[in-house]
Amino acid sequence: MNSYAVTEKNSRGRAIAEPKSPLRNDFQRDRDRIIHSAAFRRLMYKTQVFVNHEGDMFRTRLSHSLEVAQISRGISRSMDINEDLAETIALAHDLGHTPFGHAGQDALNQCMKNYGGFEHNLQSLRVVDLLEKRYANFDGLNLTFESREGILKHCSLKNARLLGELGQRFIDKKQTSLEAQVVDLSDAIAYNMHDLDDGYRSNILDLDSLNEIEFFSECHDKVVSSGLIKDEQIVVNETIRLMTYRLIDDVTKASLELIKANKICDISDVRNFGKNLVQFSEPFDRKLKACQKKLRANLYHHNRIEMMSKKAHSVIESLFNYYINKMEQVPDNYLIANNNQRSIADYIAGMTDRFALKIYEKIEK
Ligand code: MG
Repeated sequence: MNSYAVTEKNSRGRAIAEPKSPLRNDFQRDRDRIIHSAAFRRLMYKTQVFVNHEGDMFRTRLSHSLEVAQISRGISRSMDINEDLAETIALAHDLGHTPFGHAGQDALNQCMKNYGGFEHNLQSLRVVDLLEKRYANFDGLNLTFESREGILKHCSLKNARLLGELGQRFIDKKQTSLEAQVVDLSDAIAYNMHDLDDGYRSNILDLDSLNEIEFFSECHDKVVSSGLIKDEQIVVNETIRLMTYRLIDDVTKASLELIKANKICDISDVRNFGKNLVQFSEPFDRKLKACQKKLRANLYHHNRIEMMSKKAHSVIESLFNYYINKMEQVPDNYLIANNNQRSIADYIAGMTDRFALKIYEKIEK
């Protein structure tokens, strides 16, 4: 691996020391703990953009996380940095997401407005640090510092001050590892590309509308220029496939160039660089932003999605108000002394779409 990668040797280790595994390195072990967690299994029934029960062909939080992991591993391998760490961070990055996607998170944040708010990034960290209860010697998964740091992509300064060593980089304005930076951009590649695909499959975005994105239309022209593909769905698949390939290729090359040009040698050079070293070239940054803009204008606020968002708001609000008066129905393992609101937020955030809906239907009867 390159000298600026995170390794077991330069790792800050685990909060609670454990004997090394004879079979796996520390980051592979972190990954396995995430895969065995309850929060990871529940991602299968959590909304990405389309509510889970809208159809079997759309992405869920689980398939999204797997796509992010796959892209992150590919980029890390080409950059010769720590593929295992990148995979671990990617699989865990959305563990703290509420049911019903961003609408659910906005609603829960609203409910928690006077009690410290709700941030899904911080919630992912709470899941791996505290809420998973599987091991005899500690709460949470006791992950390495580098996995935890990668999971906490954003954090308000107020919360950063409460997090000790892990929050310090937000105060000092330092960067995360390259592996965490890779996951961040892989997330952006994955959701933009799969949302274009899901948007098309749902008939909300048709081929003409996709072709309004310059990047799509460039790749589309290349795909159809062979004249061999007649099926429109295959043309769209191949176009998105080519876009994804070009984005991955660009971010790998642009980042390696930046690392070389700035003579980055080790992990402390990475942390002290002042901005992220994993970046798209400027033209590709613009291309990806144009996709995002299109999705925002034509998919994320489409009637079908907005209807779901409204429903999500009422479900989350109603559940929150219900449990405030029925604390005895919140499972014991979520209870925190003198903080009923946080206990409820943790409980609701962990629910799947269908479980939240089931309870909502019961209490609204
Ligand atoms: Mg994500």
